[in-house]
Amino acid sequence: METKGILSFFVNRNLLDAIPEFLEHSSYDELIEINLVNDSYRFIYNIEEKYFSPVTEGAYRSFYEEAAKYLVHPEDSVRYAEIMDPGTLRDRLEKSEPPGTLEFQFRVKNLEDQWKWVDSIIVSGAVFGLPEGVLHCYIFDIQQIKDRESGKTKVDRGKKIVLDSLTGLPTNRDFFNAAEKLLKETTGEWMMIVIDLEQFKLFNEWYGFETGNKVLARIGAGLSKDAEHCNGLAGYMGNDDFCLMIPVGKLHPEILFKHIRNVLDRYGASFSFLPALGVACSKSDDSVMRLHDKAEMAIANAKGNFKNRIWYFDEAMYNKLENDYKTLAAFQNALGSGEITFFLQPQCDVETGKIVGAEALARWIRKDGSMVMPGDFVPALENYGFIPDLDKFIWDEVAKWCKGCIDKEYPLLPVSVNVSAIDIFTFDVPQYFASLVRQYRIPKHALKIEITESACGEDSDSVRAAVHALRSNGFVVLMDDFGSGYSSLNMLHELNIDVIKLDARFLRFDNTVLEKGLHILESVVYMAKSMGLPTIVEGVETREQKEYLMSLGCQYIQGFYYYRPMPVTEFEALIQNRRNVDLGGFRAKANEEFRLREFLNDTVYSDAMLNNILGPVAIYEWHGEDVDIVRYNQKFYETVDVKNFHHRLNAIQRFMPPEDAAALFRALRKAVGDRMNGASEVMTFSRLDGSFVKFLIHFYLLEDTKEVKRFYGSARDVTEISDLSNHMKLLSKYLSDCVILLIYRHGRVSFQVAAQGLEKEMGLTREKMEAELNSGRFFYRIGKDDRDRITAEIKRSIENRQNYSAQFDMAGAEGKILSLYLKSDFVDEQTSDVKSIISIECRQE
Ligand code: C2E
Ligand code: CA
Ligand code: CA
Repeated sequence: METKGILSFFVNRNLLDAIPEFLEHSSYDELIEINLVNDSYRFIYNIEEKYFSPVTEGAYRSFYEEAAKYLVHPEDSVRYAEIMDPGTLRDRLEKSEPPGTLEFQFRVKNLEDQWKWVDSIIVSGAVFGLPEGVLHCYIFDIQQIKDRESGKTKVDRGKKIVLDSLTGLPTNRDFFNAAEKLLKETTGEWMMIVIDLEQFKLFNEWYGFETGNKVLARIGAGLSKDAEHCNGLAGYMGNDDFCLMIPVGKLHPEILFKHIRNVLDRYGASFSFLPALGVACSKSDDSVMRLHDKAEMAIANAKGNFKNRIWYFDEAMYNKLENDYKTLAAFQNALGSGEITFFLQPQCDVETGKIVGAEALARWIRKDGSMVMPGDFVPALENYGFIPDLDKFIWDEVAKWCKGCIDKEYPLLPVSVNVSAIDIFTFDVPQYFASLVRQYRIPKHALKIEITESACGEDSDSVRAAVHALRSNGFVVLMDDFGSGYSSLNMLHELNIDVIKLDARFLRFDNTVLEKGLHILESVVYMAKSMGLPTIVEGVETREQKEYLMSLGCQYIQGFYYYRPMPVTEFEALIQNRRNVDLGGFRAKANEEFRLREFLNDTVYSDAMLNNILGPVAIYEWHGEDVDIVRYNQKFYETVDVKNFHHRLNAIQRFMPPEDAAALFRALRKAVGDRMNGASEVMTFSRLDGSFVKFLIHFYLLEDTKEVKRFYGSARDVTEISDLSNHMKLLSKYLSDCVILLIYRHGRVSFQVAAQGLEKEMGLTREKMEAELNSGRFFYRIGKDDRDRITAEIKRSIENRQNYSAQFDMAGAEGKILSLYLKSDFVDEQTSDVKSIISIECRQE
């Protein structure tokens, strides 16, 4: 009964996908891979000295025949032979419920010649992405359960359970079984807490396995005591994972956290080793597995979050997950059965009202005619990485439709399609568009590419590269939803896009906040203009809004005021009347006189929205020898955060180190000369708390009169980057070949390879070396004798803020033994995250 639970749990939730992960984390005794196509098997894992197993790989059929005869209990062997029969196994797996999985129990011979019950779960390799005909067979020990069922042992709150020898706690299955019993036999509410020590592998590397084991044992003992105190149960899940089930209200997870941290402290563990806790409280129909799963869902939030280490499950997480799964399953069908299509929403010129282009918007039209809006499925597709399926489909459909327009001699209006960040990260988007226009033989200007602004915040390098490739390929790129929160004009400039789309709704473009909202819109429209970028304003619904935008000189609108998104047939009918259409495309009135009103108007600066759009900005005036800051926004004030801010706004060059003052004037002069692109330089400010910040300030000339030159300057904090570059300069004095920075940030140690001259010798790329250093794997390359000594030395030198050097051997490329000389210099600079510079030199002849 208990074992059946494993599979049925997933089936109930229809989350077959979770099986591989589940199996990965459970403690099976054996894992055998069977290949029915070439009749072979191999043991991927088998527990030592437990079962009587023949050789670990060979021909499957003979293994199967032998097992049925000698290894399986005579009473079970017929059933075993039936289920494991290579002739029919594949077929039965296909028809099984849930599909692709089989489960059955039988007795096998152990090394002491006794029969022991095991549970076998067979999973079709397809679930793991393996080729057809490959299966995985997991063997679990269920003897204890059988004993219990037959009354041989009585479970008494888990006391007679076999305990893990290290932690003294019941492990996986025993814990779950005992917990299930508690849950069923009591009425109160229970709290499941999963605990992950995180990075414990690194801990072992640093402090040695012996210490690591001691810590685990201590924590186990502590948790056991904590659980006992409140009549609960503690378990050990292997590695650095623990689990606790206690009555609700008896013990605050915060206290558990402190107990664990105390143990770590006692062993001198660095602050970077912070346990993570996931907490879930039982609902009436929860099984232990379900409860555990919820706690796991909660703990997932703690990954990489070093502020918040305790997370509580809330029902919304679960419902959302289930809904998303349903949506994803239905979406795949919908895509195949023609339920997915696109609507077109015209983009109009405000002066003439004529259509200059359109945006393709995905629509899901169900068989019954009901329509699902993108807001109800696009987020799920994005979250689970399926958005490329939709996007490629829509782009193809749009390209096909464009070709149709050409054939039917309709006016060819450019259509924008949406590109998600995930598209850019998962495949070559520029390449895809290039082949799309080739395949359908349509001109490049038929398609415009809309990239959402938030995408640019994620990995701006990939996005920048994609935008660059698209544009040099001749495609027009639009930045969608500009002003929705992530961007600043700096980024706009860096990305080098063609058109901005502003969503009036993001800018609270409504009548109640008309005054303020419009000011913001205004300044962004002007800003875009000063850069020569055309702007499309989206979400325009009323005549007042339209007229105001017109008065600002904003030229293009996509909104319900003109047209709602419509089926393509309707759009075709519309454009067949040439009077509705303007084939001139998007025009930018580049480089117009920059209007200053919005910057000199205080009401604008008081608005947080503008701060978000522009980032830290200020207006500078340069007259004679002096440069003054005459206006600045809130963000500038907060970011710059310098001593006596208000007293230092006049003649700012006096407060700068001489080389920075020189840089300031250099940038200003250059900005005067290049009005379009402006100029930028890095400058240093000392902060209130004594630390230094470095800003990259980009200046644009606004006004140039006889008395004064006025500039707009946007600032970007580049402290981290420039810090590193300083260190790189420092590094030039090291003659050694490989230089590694040890960085201590947010309570975590990490390594960065700053210079890697030993690729050939070590057989490692810089990326790989960095990854290995950060996972602790790198230290395994060091000979075992030296390893403990080196890691202990590094640890000590960090703690004592000391320099040290060491000589050791390491396995290099092609098994060569390298003789290396390591030198670690402590960086005594409080403002820096880089704590030491480690250089490695190869002293091999
Ligand atoms: P978006 O790209 O910003 O598209 C504009 C959205 O604003 C559309 O919503 C459009 O119907 C709506 N809209 C336009 N003018 C007005 C107006 O005056 N008033 C109001 N209230 N709304 C207006 P829709 O079609 O529901 O699409 C929502 C979002 O879903 C899109 O926002 C886009 O982010 C995403 N999306 C739609 N189709 C696709 C697609 O094929 N691929 C991807 N990756 N995302 C898509
Ligand atoms: Ca869009
Ligand atoms: Ca938009």
